[in-house]
Amino acid sequence: MAKAKAVKYPIIYEMRRGTWNDYWRVAIYKNNAALKKGLKAEGIVDATPDTLALVHSTASYTKKLEWGDFTSSMFATLFLSLDNMGTEILCHESVHIGMAHERFINRFKMEYGDQCGTNEERLAYYIGSVMRGLVETLRENGHIE
Ligand SMILES: [Zn+2]
Repeated sequence: MAKAKAVKYPIIYEMRRGTWNDYWRVAIYKNNAALKKGLKAEGIVDATPDTLALVHSTASYTKKLEWGDFTSSMFATLFLSLDNMGTEILCHESVHIGMAHERFINRFKMEYGDQCGTNEERLAYYIGSVMRGLVETLRENGHIE
């Protein structure tokens, strides 16, 4: 029997989109406990006991005092664990990535404020729930696998 290949966590991917001049990262941890440890090790203090995944913009990640003072074209990191990778969570966090990108492009001049707040959080929950319902319905009816 072939020996399973050892995987070293966190697995980190640079996420580049076709026409974007910048990129974001995703860091995948083995489980939620490892995710929490990893966030703490990165100095990210806004995780709560309920945190299942988290998007951190580069500005706060590098602990810059001035919003918009980016040092690279990497605008955000999504922290995930294998425990929580369902459609709703991935969609929810994708909203935060999209918003982080919008802040990066517009240098934080947007209606939703200069950082994630309750309005963005509500939007992310709505869109995550909508996407989960959509995917489940399409899957149950054989339109997608
Ligand atoms: Zn959120």
